[in-house]
Amino acid sequence: MLNALWQSVLGEIELSVSHGNFETWFKHTELLSYDDELVVIGVANIFAKRQFEVKFDKQIREILVRNGITTKRITYQVKTVKKRVISRETTSETDLTSARVDELMSTPTASQATKPSSSTLNPRYTFDSFIVGSSNDLAYTACQAAAVNPGTKYNPLFIYGGVGLGKTHLIQAVGNEIAKTHPKMKVMYLSSETFMKEFLEHIRFKKAGFSDKYRNVDVLIVDDMQFIAGKEKTQEEFFHTFNALHQANKQIIIGSDKPPRSIPTLTERLRSRLEWGMAIDIQMPDFETRCAIVKTKAAQSGVEISDETAEFLAQNIKTNVRELEGALNQLLAYAEMRGVTPDISIAEGLIGNIRHSRPQHVTPKQIIDKTARHFQIDSKEICGSKRDKHIVVPRQIAMYLLRSELHLSFPRIANELGRKDHTTAIHSVDKIEKSIKLDLLIREQVAEIREKLYA
Ligand code: ADP
Ligand code: MG
Repeated sequence: MLNALWQSVLGEIELSVSHGNFETWFKHTELLSYDDELVVIGVANIFAKRQFEVKFDKQIREILVRNGITTKRITYQVKTVKKRVISRETTSETDLTSARVDELMSTPTASQATKPSSSTLNPRYTFDSFIVGSSNDLAYTACQAAAVNPGTKYNPLFIYGGVGLGKTHLIQAVGNEIAKTHPKMKVMYLSSETFMKEFLEHIRFKKAGFSDKYRNVDVLIVDDMQFIAGKEKTQEEFFHTFNALHQANKQIIIGSDKPPRSIPTLTERLRSRLEWGMAIDIQMPDFETRCAIVKTKAAQSGVEISDETAEFLAQNIKTNVRELEGALNQLLAYAEMRGVTPDISIAEGLIGNIRHSRPQHVTPKQIIDKTARHFQIDSKEICGSKRDKHIVVPRQIAMYLLRSELHLSFPRIANELGRKDHTTAIHSVDKIEKSIKLDLLIREQVAEIREKLYA
């Protein structure tokens, strides 16, 4: 009954608003209840709620009257909707709050990226909301295994990778999952900086209970381990905490922007402890995964964006997922404020600004030069024909990066390296694609060059 009535209202609205507006704002609405005092209309998200209050209220009121409903007040209520998440065939609840809007309006900044995390788990960081691709599937699988059987396999589990690639998301997902499936277990999440601060207070003010606090948990998740570099006393304390937990078969999970061996001034014995279990890196997701992330995040905000727009963002933002998410949020907020559909033309305008503020268009020459410099050889050698191993691998990596970063055709890649035949380019790209999956060293080298390219 409610539904039939609302369909008839929608029919009229469809005639009076643009197609884009109808698709974006009205399609997912619902009449939840009505009487002569109050009509409640369910809308998809907080953006839609605002649109309705500001833009469409009068129109809806008139159409309702024509359909026999007169009421004093109309409210728009954000529905809690079930949505499919692309990464896995499960559903997750999404409820947009005004806090979320504030979050959407703000763009992540570098300072936020390195801000020490608080000691609470963010409920948004779940396995469900994490999109899996070849850049992060190993880390994802290991984290899931740790969540299913904490303290058995992969202990400690060490997840490392560049800024904004999802480390915090993943290691918190373990915590959230365990809290859900093993409610009796005590999960603790904190950054190594918090650990250090509390430790120093413990020493300075003789605060009691420090050791117990961390040694009585079932799962200890420590983020941003790189901060512990050079802090010898803190490392020592952490070493003892580590031993106590490990001996009791408690799960330890660590996030860091570098692998243990590359954290400077890590005491040898702590380093060896951290290397006991499993160390896995996360890389920047490939183009397809980036598209999926954009589409999923938009859908989670209750907005559908075209493939074209998602691809445009994925194509242009290759630094990290946090920036990709930031650009999407800017797009959604911008479109929302102006009451337009977030499409590719708006995205182009916004990305233009981003590009403007950080000029970093990568050229084929830069890829070749940076690769050469990374391996301490000459760019001419990469473009030359010598077949020594110390040149062949960098050459293959350069070809791979020309493909992955600039999406150049194989003949173009061959051309950039001064070759006529492009079969070598095909083989090289293929070889590095495979090696990246199997060979940690190659993976890291590619990641490091990529980082330098966009630094
Ligand atoms: P890091 O700790 O590596 O710096 P974060 O875990 O804070 O990065 O991730 C930055 C943002 O990107 C977060 O909002 C996170 O949800 C998002 N993110 C990163 N990777 C993914 C992914 N694979 N799927 C979905 N969201 C992701
Ligand atoms: Mg982090």
